[in-house]
Amino acid sequence: MTKVTNSPLDVELHIPAHLDSVIAEVTSLYETEVAPREAALKHRLKDQSKFLDEQGRLHPEIISARREIMAASGAKNIYSAHLPESLGGRGLGREDMIYVEEHVYGYGVDLNPALLSWSEGATPRLLKAHPHQKEQFTDPLVKGLKTSLHGVTETGAGSNLYDMKTNAVRKGSDWVLNGTKAYITNYFDADVAQVLAITNPGGGRQAFTYFMFDTEEYFGKGYEIGQLYQTMFGDGYTGEIHFEDMVLPESAVLGEVNGGFDIAVMSFNYTRMRRAGMCSGWSKYLIEKTLERVKTRVVGGKPLGAKQGIQWMIADMYLDWQQTRSLSLDVARAIDTPGPWWNLPRPSDEVRRICSLKLSNDESFYRVADRALQIHGGLGVLRDTDINKLFQIARNLRIPGGTDEVQRTTIAETLGLRFN
Ligand SMILES: Cc1cc2nc3c(=O)[nH]c(=O)nc-3n(C[C@H](O)[C@H](O)[C@H](O)COP(=O)(O)OP(=O)(O)OC[C@H]3O[C@@H](n4cnc5c(N)ncnc54)[C@H](O)[C@@H]3O)c2cc1C
Repeated sequence: MTKVTNSPLDVELHIPAHLDSVIAEVTSLYETEVAPREAALKHRLKDQSKFLDEQGRLHPEIISARREIMAASGAKNIYSAHLPESLGGRGLGREDMIYVEEHVYGYGVDLNPALLSWSEGATPRLLKAHPHQKEQFTDPLVKGLKTSLHGVTETGAGSNLYDMKTNAVRKGSDWVLNGTKAYITNYFDADVAQVLAITNPGGGRQAFTYFMFDTEEYFGKGYEIGQLYQTMFGDGYTGEIHFEDMVLPESAVLGEVNGGFDIAVMSFNYTRMRRAGMCSGWSKYLIEKTLERVKTRVVGGKPLGAKQGIQWMIADMYLDWQQTRSLSLDVARAIDTPGPWWNLPRPSDEVRRICSLKLSNDESFYRVADRALQIHGGLGVLRDTDINKLFQIARNLRIPGGTDEVQRTTIAETLGLRFN
């Protein structure tokens, strides 16, 4: 489906004038780099069975189209606009990024998300990279020329980092890595791996270290790609990676030895904050598509949109979108005010706001997607419609990056309800 033009919702956006040129560049990138590739891949993108290869993995044609879009966006300095200029980004704060992200996601759910770096791209973990890692890792990731994976979760360690088993032990000047990481996005195609391991057992917050390495260099040398997970939204992109006596040099450490916990927290904060633009853009898209549908779908001689029950559902979708968007912009402003959000440690009231942002976005977007599907009736149930794809994605979003329950627990703890 294509983006709705002259949307009645555009009047709500209030994009600040200083972002006009960035938004224009995103629009131009969409028109020149994304839309033609979507048109060329039309049948694959609209049919889940063609979306994946014979093994159930994301199809190579889609992967290469995404990589081309990433590189084009990187060349225009949009892909990593969220990173500081010192790393090659634009230094946009969280508030500005919400406007940029919602514009990108407002195009729907095909190749457009590749315009912006996500968990497989240039994350703020690169702020912790050392000068010797710049040329091989930081620069190509920032420019969208390479992709990465983020290996934290294990089958026995998701919500609680302290349950982690993957470990790295010193051997001379090297580290020997053992363990398995589960539910890893981009697990089979990543050029770069950023993996968290225990290096100081029992060391509390000082127990963990990040390692960054080139996946191709270590394939068959203690590093293996494991099984694909068949997720409900059929992304063909999530699975396991294994380490068996994998030897890494000291130069593979990202940040400081035993300093990984804080980097992980920074990463989770980034993932959580990034929900705002994503869920706002997709909520707006779903409301627009639903408005279109109820004006043209005739039931008993009248448009579906004439029914009060349907009107109320749409009003609730609008309210969910607007309430959460306002909260997100407020949170982003509060985060931007003291300066770059990645400077640690952050005050607990900010942690609470970030968790509120993620929770509110995930749950309100899920309600919007659920109502959009309901109003589309049988059409919404068809697997290859955008409505259905976004409903599946919306359900998924409530798990990764910290579940709804983890957000609620953290909110409560920062309000003084921590008893250990
Ligand atoms: C599609 C997808 C992509 C992902 N990508 C990545 C990735 O790239 N890299 C990566 O490292 N991880 C990734 N993950 C993993 C994700 O971060 C974890 O699944 C998530 O943190 C939850 O961990 P878990 O699955 O082990 O659930 P569990 O921790 O087992 O939780 C199970 C249930 O118990 C609840 N629960 C847990 N602790 C508490 C508590 N203290 N109080 C109340 N309830 C609690 C949870 O909310 C949940 O409902 C991905 C997951 C998915 C689904």
